[in-house]
Amino acid sequence: MGVDYYYYCTKCGWHDILNREWCPFCGEKPKRYDYKLENFFDISEEERKELERPLIELIEKSPDFDPKLRDKRVIERERYNKESIKRMYSNKVQVTCPYCHSQNTRKIGAGERMFSTNLFGLGSSNLGKQWHCKDCGSDF
Ligand SMILES: [Zn+2]
Ligand SMILES: [Zn+2]
Repeated sequence: MGVDYYYYCTKCGWHDILNREWCPFCGEKPKRYDYKLENFFDISEEERKELERPLIELIEKSPDFDPKLRDKRVIERERYNKESIKRMYSNKVQVTCPYCHSQNTRKIGAGERMFSTNLFGLGSSNLGKQWHCKDCGSDF
């Protein structure tokens, strides 16, 4: 449905389809890349890279482009990505079921674990399992 545009910063090379008043990395005013993106969220990673190629060239040819700033931005972004992955794991927001790959899972409480131990004895398969899949009913 929607039509989107890329917004980009010529200084550090930041680009995104979200329009921001200021570049979130270096604070410059982003420019709009005059190319209509249709159904952006339906395209593949490959297609997206293809789309971004001329935009990145444009950025890199820009007189105020600063490759050092760009490198810094890329490093910061990687660090940020790694940290958000770490955060995601430590909060255990979404755990994928190893059996059916559903993300409809929940953490089994300590009380529940104790209860199933008492109920089925020490050999309970629930022992040591921390997650329950609401789709296929497996514990893991
Ligand atoms: Zn910038
Ligand atoms: Zn499952």
